Amino acid sequence: VDKSSSRLTIAIQKSGRLSKESIGLLQACGFKFSLHEARLLAHSSNQPVDLLRVRDDDIPGLIMDGVVDLGLVGENVLEEARLERVATNLPSEFERLRALDFGQCRLSIAVPKEDDYNGIADLNSKRIATTYPYLLQSYLQRQGVKASNAVLTGSVEVAPRAGLADAVCDLVSTGATLEANGLVEKDIIFRSQAQLIQRPEPLSAVKQAIVDQLLPRIDGVQMARESKYIMLHAPVSALDKVADLLPGAERPTILPLSHTDKLVAVHMVSTETLFWETMEELKAIGCSSILVLPIEKMMG
Ligand code: ATP
Ligand code: MG
Repeated sequence: VDKSSSRLTIAIQKSGRLSKESIGLLQACGFKFSLHEARLLAHSSNQPVDLLRVRDDDIPGLIMDGVVDLGLVGENVLEEARLERVATNLPSEFERLRALDFGQCRLSIAVPKEDDYNGIADLNSKRIATTYPYLLQSYLQRQGVKASNAVLTGSVEVAPRAGLADAVCDLVSTGATLEANGLVEKDIIFRSQAQLIQRPEPLSAVKQAIVDQLLPRIDGVQMARESKYIMLHAPVSALDKVADLLPGAERPTILPLSHTDKLVAVHMVSTETLFWETMEELKAIGCSSILVLPIEKMMG
């Protein structure tokens, strides 16, 4: 990667749990990419932007060493890399631009289900298998617990049965993997979601201009995902009740209908979902044609 190039380089996970959403977000922001499975680099056809597709573990270092301009990576991987780099005197600075609305997971301590466990202090002088030794030790230190790490890059959940460790510290989303291995989640030590980060040194004016355009677009895409457009016909006489039922009903647009003056059309953007129960209540007070629509993009 040529640092002096005027093309903005964005590192994303090549294949894994963050890949689809990372590319999807950038595409929703208006960047066009043609991705070839085998290629590390993908050029945008409509912006001076290149995607660098790598293992997620490599993204924090690429940012902190200033090799790429932006990166999309899980907070868990980011904070683990930062702690490791602080401990080993490598550059560990970066700029956090946005928390992204995907990649939610948690890093938790789990123990075999037959074990009697009354809290983290029970792990004193025990061994804990993990892929996140720095996050784990930083948590243990804050809790005043001394335990040793068994660092594995995968299959952490089989470590207790294999006799390698007494407990595990692993990423959990549903808990199904833990359960399948006879483990029970006990303490959440870190909550994570994807982050958009930038290298520490200022960007060239050309690159900064792209970032300045990208950030409001990301906000617009994320806001739109959380919002719904609600339309319905309401009896004029029931408008107050309708407003009470609708979530976040400030400033709805009220429009006359051509065929009647008893009903009006009510349109609004809501940051809350309209539940079936509310729709049924609206119907019961005389509303009809109730529509809940997804919003694709938003700008204030
Ligand atoms: P790589 O080959 O890139 O190193 P990996 O196997 O380390 O991939 P994945 O399993 O694809 O990583 O997870 C990538 C990141 O996705 C995790 O570090 C975490 O931030 C996030 N993540 C983990 N589990 C989930 C989940 N169940 N749902 C959404 N995001 C998750
Ligand atoms: Mg990884």
